Amino acid sequence: MSKDVFVFIEQRDNQLEKVGIELLGKARELADALGQNVVAMLLGEKVKDHAEILIKHGADKVIVVEDEMLKEYVTEPYAKAITQIIKEKDPEIVIYGASSIGRDLAPRLAARIHTGLTADCTKLEIDEESKNLMMTRPAFGGNLMATILCEDFRPQMATVRPGVMQALDSDGSRKGEIEEFKVEFDDSDMNVEIKEISKQESQKKDITEAKILVSGGRGIGGPEGFKPLQELADTLEAEISASRASVDSGWITKDHQVGQTGKTVRPELYFAMGISGAIQHVAGMEDSDLIIAVNKDPEAAIFEIADLGVVGDINAVVPKLIESIEREKKIKAEI
Ligand SMILES: Cc1cc2nc3c(=O)[nH]c(=O)nc-3n(C[C@H](O)[C@H](O)[C@H](O)COP(=O)(O)OP(=O)(O)OC[C@H]3O[C@@H](n4cnc5c(N)ncnc54)[C@H](O)[C@@H]3O)c2cc1C
Repeated sequence: MSKDVFVFIEQRDNQLEKVGIELLGKARELADALGQNVVAMLLGEKVKDHAEILIKHGADKVIVVEDEMLKEYVTEPYAKAITQIIKEKDPEIVIYGASSIGRDLAPRLAARIHTGLTADCTKLEIDEESKNLMMTRPAFGGNLMATILCEDFRPQMATVRPGVMQALDSDGSRKGEIEEFKVEFDDSDMNVEIKEISKQESQKKDITEAKILVSGGRGIGGPEGFKPLQELADTLEAEISASRASVDSGWITKDHQVGQTGKTVRPELYFAMGISGAIQHVAGMEDSDLIIAVNKDPEAAIFEIADLGVVGDINAVVPKLIESIEREKKIKAEI
């Protein structure tokens, strides 16, 4: 009988990706609701040392597959290894990050194993009666939320974007089992030759990691509108993010986009500057601890979710905000 909640753990350059740790937190909740275990699947070349970290973050067991073929992510060897694990262990649920790796891997596995896959879930819950996994995701352009069930096939599989689920704090007292799983690879499993890995160097922090975000929407008026926002961000040691309208207008690059088709963020403080508060934007930032919105339209939807709203022109409000933060900082430095 199918059993346990499995999580595919991503690593790049032998560093664990945060999304896997976040998914362990959700898997813990699902497994507890089912009275089952959380099993992490960790693949790579020399990755076993990371297994303890996964146990501290909620895994009861870590299945480690080590092979030089798994050093870099390549679809075929990864798909082969996970297919073997799933076929042998028969999990109830498997979750993957909706990262470029997870988006490549999960659909292939769904086809090989012959089961369903719900992509980009924003909510995962166990149905109390049937014990099925309820996988909720935005549908029809984000205008409604659809809850999808996979009743007839196992495992039930879902992908979840980075930043959507919350990681559990590390608990050093947790104990778990580590199983080394052997997969026999041969040359035919490597159908791609990696000639070069070129990394996009970025000076900027990923917006999903930022504690404070200053986000600019169409209301900033143009690319030059990001200059005062950058000044404000520098004063607060914050990062800049944006609505899709700013990205689509070519004012800022897509990696800054917050929302349903951008990134999900959860900073301590989120400034929504000249952003109307469309549902697709809100989906990516509503879990921020504190939301401050500046908008000249008192009816703007963003005020419905903002903790603090300022009705006014950003061109007037932002310089005043910077001035008062600088003043506060000076006073603090003096005392
Ligand atoms: C399938 C789909 C996916 C989408 N995904 C995303 C997504 O991931 N992220 C996202 O952001 N959007 C997304 N959208 C688009 C979304 O529906 C909105 O169109 C978009 O969020 C609007 O961006 P905005 O708030 O910056 O612009 P607008 O809606 O044009 O709002 C601009 C706001 O600025 C205010 N304003 C104007 N001038 C000033 C000023 N001087 N001072 C103060 N306020 C001012 C206005 O009152 C207005 O409220 C998606 C849409 C679809 C259909």
